[in-house]
Amino acid sequence: MPAKQDIINTIAQIKRDHPGNLMAKYFDPDYYNSLDDTPRARLEKIIATGVQNPTSEMGAYAMHPDDYDLFAAQLAPMIREFHRIPKGTPIAQINDWDTSATSCDLGAIDPALRDVSMRVRVARNASTFPLPGAMDKAQRIAFEQVAITAFSELIQTPDFGGKYLSITPGTPHSIDNNEYDARVASHQMFKDMSADKYLNVAGISGDWPHGRGMYISAAEDFIVWVGEEDHLRIMSMQTGGNLNTLFERLHTGLTILGKLLPPFAMSDTYGAIASCPTNLGAGMRASLHVKLPNLCANDPKLTRITAEAKKLGLAIRGAGGEHSGAGKGGLLDISPSARLGVTQMQIMQRLYDGVAALWKLENA
Ligand code: ADP
Ligand code: MG
Repeated sequence: MPAKQDIINTIAQIKRDHPGNLMAKYFDPDYYNSLDDTPRARLEKIIATGVQNPTSEMGAYAMHPDDYDLFAAQLAPMIREFHRIPKGTPIAQINDWDTSATSCDLGAIDPALRDVSMRVRVARNASTFPLPGAMDKAQRIAFEQVAITAFSELIQTPDFGGKYLSITPGTPHSIDNNEYDARVASHQMFKDMSADKYLNVAGISGDWPHGRGMYISAAEDFIVWVGEEDHLRIMSMQTGGNLNTLFERLHTGLTILGKLLPPFAMSDTYGAIASCPTNLGAGMRASLHVKLPNLCANDPKLTRITAEAKKLGLAIRGAGGEHSGAGKGGLLDISPSARLGVTQMQIMQRLYDGVAALWKLENA
């Protein structure tokens, strides 16, 4: 690790060159210098990804659930800015999964939206293990075994069934490279994390592919990733129809898994604890894969659509996930940005209202 003053100088330079790097924006040299060796080393590990990747949007990953309280001086202002929680307003997570009062049927916006791919996932981490950036190989493998035990019960539940597919080499559940590639191509499985520079620096992709895998339900509409950016990414996926059904399936599966797994790391302030501060709170990202060819025409960097989406509280990703470009025919991933201080219901409504507004612009 470079000397303290080198780190301070490097971050000052990033702050000038990359005003969007929230770690650099809120880094306070006085606070950093005030820390004893042990907590300072911990903070350095948390912010390493933003120091070594100046283009980071957030620039920090938590390594342990209590990092959010211990290093609030660095992390809380970043969290407020990303989730748009004004200074002075308390940070709090309120949950509301009751979707019964509203119907979010995409076909009601336009029948052309009936074949849109819908996905909603939540991040969850077990309180009994360090977060992925601080896990060693034995812990990654041990956590996968804990998850497999829970899945073996979920598989007995009639609405779920399904199977577990591991990419840990040489286990009874292991799949071959061809099946892994096919599952990635179908968006069911996560990509090779060892190719991700943001995750590498944070140690999150360490020991790849040990301790990694996915549960998939018999109908292939409920999936749980093990060992990606969080211990668990629990998701519901389906093509077309009603967001209500998508959200209800996630809630049911999450509730069942919550009883089968060790307690999740939760905070009174931040809700569900996640590796990345962007995923705190509901820990939820609800996304649609929609073709918006007009809004992204002649704009490979997606500048226009990103600006339009931002006004609606939405983020744009490429069809291959974060840091990818628009897919064939202008296929994009749109999702509400805020995940903390918003209820699950509000996220669903924001996505629905947002896609309706973008669709109107696209066809104007
Ligand atoms: P997250 O961080 O929410 O898991 P990523 O951007 O890392 O999302 O993408 C993970 C995978 O999920 C990628 O393969 C991406 O294409 C896929 N994905 C995201 N949204 C959808 C959707 N609505 N339909 C199908 N696949 C999706
Ligand atoms: Mg991701």
